[in-house]
Amino acid sequence: MMRRKIWKTLTSLRYPKIFRLQGSLEESQWWSRDQIRELQWSKLKALVAHAYADVPFYRRTWSEIGFHPDDLTPDSFRQLPLLKKQTIKLRADDLVCRELLRNARFNSTGGSTGEPIQFYQDRGFPSIFYAAAFRHNRWSGWRPGDPVLRLWGNPSDLGGAVRQRISRIISGGTTINAFKLSEESFERARHFLETTKPTLLTGYSSAVVAFAEYLGESGRTIEHNLRGIITSAEVLTPEMRRKIQQVFKVRVYDRYGCREVGLIASQCEYGSLHVNDENLLVEYEETTGGLTEIIVTDLNNRVMPFIRYKIGDVGRSSIRNCGCGRGLTVMGEVSGRTTELLLNADGGIISGPALTLVFKDLREVRQVQLFQPRAGELIVRLVRDGGYSHDTEGLILGRLLEIFGARMQIQFEYPDVIASESSGKYRFAISNVHN
Ligand SMILES: [Zn+2]
Repeated sequence: MMRRKIWKTLTSLRYPKIFRLQGSLEESQWWSRDQIRELQWSKLKALVAHAYADVPFYRRTWSEIGFHPDDLTPDSFRQLPLLKKQTIKLRADDLVCRELLRNARFNSTGGSTGEPIQFYQDRGFPSIFYAAAFRHNRWSGWRPGDPVLRLWGNPSDLGGAVRQRISRIISGGTTINAFKLSEESFERARHFLETTKPTLLTGYSSAVVAFAEYLGESGRTIEHNLRGIITSAEVLTPEMRRKIQQVFKVRVYDRYGCREVGLIASQCEYGSLHVNDENLLVEYEETTGGLTEIIVTDLNNRVMPFIRYKIGDVGRSSIRNCGCGRGLTVMGEVSGRTTELLLNADGGIISGPALTLVFKDLREVRQVQLFQPRAGELIVRLVRDGGYSHDTEGLILGRLLEIFGARMQIQFEYPDVIASESSGKYRFAISNVHN
């Protein structure tokens, strides 16, 4: 009881208004679609008016096409130009509201999409972000103040020693560095599970899978009090989900977001990926390759508005209503970064993460990464385990040629380790073709 009170006080000191924001999200998730749409629309109108009045880039590009905020309709909004990463890189100065800049926070993304960007966010961004994350944590059975075990690895998220200690108290949990997953760190995580009894385990999808595999192979039964597991930052394949659930025997709730706009969508107990509709407007735009790209507008950020931002992810819309009764819209699926899509010999698209199936039954493969430097070529980077032989390579080659087409040029490389990206994320498939 006391611990919860301390947690609540520290959390609200660090993230002002967070519990008020979370409270209103807990309510609005049960609103009707129409009510939620009305809220989005009023926030969008205010954002567009502000961007036109105070942000030179929007003022100019919208004037050029003859758009004025008074003309805003759902149709005219869809005609507005998309905001590309390249534009943020080259025209950052033009994209900010000068008056708000003094009070803004600087943020950046790593190179996971091949295009690192720097940007500004309002001071209140972390409160908005964590309010949405806490709402989702609650779907998994976590209660505010419960301890959490994290397998996470972004250095800027980890912060310095003092910040870490404060974070630890606020989170009531512990963070295992996903950069350096080793027997020692897995043992620390297991010890935390058994002694502190967190109700939530969260982390990079691949890190949680690695932890589950470690526990599974150790053969010991673990006594835990987890209500649910939240994975994020990487695509979670059905195979990865199965592995995790097999070991922990609790449901996995995947979530999807990014540093630029925060939490985008999160899975409920029915498995639907619900969009964070109160804070974002998500659109799906068909592109030339027959893909549907996710376009996001952040309804809150004023200092550097992200309006119709082309985030670089491929997904689908879904018109379905969810059995959980929440009015939040449902995203069909996120099939990965555009940089995780590979091309077969005929130029057809293959979702990189789906190719994990090729290696599923091969115990002699420790880790693998598929890299496509250019169309028609594929490099298989593979860390071998005991029992790997020339026959294994032949088997993999055969499977890949069947999927990619006989004309595909496939080469094998055998490094000792495959490094994670600077953010600590591990990517199974990387393509240079779409950039
Ligand atoms: Zn639902």
